[in-house]
Amino acid sequence: MEILRIENLTKTYGEGDNKVEALKNINLSINEGEFVAIIGASGSGKSTLLHLLGGLDRPTSGKVVIDEKSIYDYNDDELSIFRRRKIGFVFQFFNLIPVLDVEENIELPVVLDNEKVDKNYLDEIINILNLNDRRNHLPSELSGGQQQRVSIGRALVNKPSIVLADEPTGNLDSKNTREVIELLKFTAKKFNQTLILITHDTNIATMADRVITIDDGEIIKDTKIDN
Ligand code: ADP
Ligand code: ADP
Repeated sequence: MEILRIENLTKTYGEGDNKVEALKNINLSINEGEFVAIIGASGSGKSTLLHLLGGLDRPTSGKVVIDEKSIYDYNDDELSIFRRRKIGFVFQFFNLIPVLDVEENIELPVVLDNEKVDKNYLDEIINILNLNDRRNHLPSELSGGQQQRVSIGRALVNKPSIVLADEPTGNLDSKNTREVIELLKFTAKKFNQTLILITHDTNIATMADRVITIDDGEIIKDTKIDN
């Protein structure tokens, strides 16, 4: 079943001589539970696309439809509610709060939402992410791989239906890279999340169900992978 659809999506930055057409009339449909990798050269439009999928920016024209709702019809407040409830973000930089420990960093989105943390679910994700013996450690006391696992926990804590990951392994060595992607893939299957991953690593991309190649703001290839 389709969870996400893009219709004639265009994003232009700047004007006049500075005008950049980052996305040129993109169309795309993604099904619930799919693991999609987006690859392409630097500057091809990958991050712009991911930001528009997650409600972090607004398109120049066209639509992003998630669960049959056109998300850019929302006002800014509604859009931020949508983001917090539906989307989990993982970025290259972990952006953990240095004075909060592992557990507090993971809980933060729920706390900021004035909601109660589901302790069983929290324990479950901390276990899956293999952070049990680090619960009360500060980010400065963790390795890069551990810090990225904390940021994955933070992305999952609100039980998102879509997880968007933008070069999440850009700061990790090859062993941690594999581990982090395997974890994202595992949690996506377990919690029935749709996973959309930006990477420039073609080996990582083949871990997905589907690889979409972007070039100069356009989708030039869309391939299903048999894993
Ligand atoms: P990628 O993620 O594939 O490296 P981006 O989506 O970041 O590509 O960028 C696509 C194009 O849009 C690039 O030419 C980039 O310079 C331009 N761009 C991205 N963000 C901005 C911005 N905020 N203002 C102006 N140009 C931008
Ligand atoms: P409700 O859950 O009944 O929509 P809320 O008080 O939680 O009420 O929502 C406040 C505002 O946020 C409303 O304008 C609502 O339309 C909007 N909103 C609620 N849920 C979402 C969502 N998943 N995505 C986007 N906007 C939402």
